[in-house]
Amino acid sequence: MEINWTKEVEARKEALLEDLFTILKVDSVRDDAKATPEMPVGPGPKEALEAFLQIGERDGFITKNVGNLAGHIEYGAGEELMGVFGHVDVVPTGTGWDTDPFEPVIKDNRVYARGSSDDKGPSMAAYYAIKIIRDLGLPVSKRVRMIIGTDEESGWQCMDHYLQHEELPDFGFSPDADFPIINGEKGNQSLYVRFRNDVAGGKNQLISFDAGLRENMVPQDATVIFTSSEADKIQTALEAFLATHPVKATLST
Ligand SMILES: [Zn+2]
Repeated sequence: MEINWTKEVEARKEALLEDLFTILKVDSVRDDAKATPEMPVGPGPKEALEAFLQIGERDGFITKNVGNLAGHIEYGAGEELMGVFGHVDVVPTGTGWDTDPFEPVIKDNRVYARGSSDDKGPSMAAYYAIKIIRDLGLPVSKRVRMIIGTDEESGWQCMDHYLQHEELPDFGFSPDADFPIINGEKGNQSLYVRFRNDVAGGKNQLISFDAGLRENMVPQDATVIFTSSEADKIQTALEAFLATHPVKATLST
C-alpha cells in the first residue's frame, strides 16, 4: 500500500491546529508559589497535561496521568516500548510580545504563542503522527508511548517521577523545539559567581545585579545598581563598550 503522507497530514491540519491551540492557551509556566501535592509545579502545567491527555482519550487511546507531573498516551502492542518525549511546560513569557503569548495567532504561516516551538507544537505534531499510523491501521511491532512532561524547563521533576513509577522505554526520541533532529546537546552549565564586593579598592560597590527570568533562558535585559565615586569614568567605559557591542544601555543616577 502506498501512503501519501503529505495528504494525510493536510487532511488533519485544521484538527491539529485546533488541538494545538487548546494547549497553547494554557499558561503552563511553573509556579512554585501555587504548588501543592496535587499540583507539584503549579496549576498551569497540570492543566496543560490534562488537556493533552484528554485529546488522547477523546481519540480512543489508552492514557495515564502519572502524579500530575507527567503522563502518557499509548498505542500499539508488543514487548518493546518506544518513547516519544515531549513537554507542555513553558518558560516565562518575558516582555516584548506583539500579541498575548497565550492567545495563539497565525501570522505569515507561523504560529505565534509561548510554547509553539518549545515544545507544545512538536509534541502535538508527534501525537498526530501516532494518530495517523493508528487511523491508517498500519502494523506496529511495538508499543509507542507519547510521554508528556510538565517540568522540562525547570527541574525535571516530571521525568524523575515518571521513571520512578512507570516502565522505562527501550528507546525513543524527543521532538523538542527544532526539526528535523537535534541529536546531541553539548552541555549546559549553571554558574554561581561570588566575589568580594570592593571593586576598585572600594570606589565602586555593587548593590544588586538582575538579569533574565530563568537559568535556561537567554536574558533579555539586565539591571545593575551600584554606588561609585567614579561615575564619569564608568559613563566613558560604558560608551566605549556600547560602541563595539550590539546592545543598548543607559546609566542613570
Ligand atoms: Zn523543550
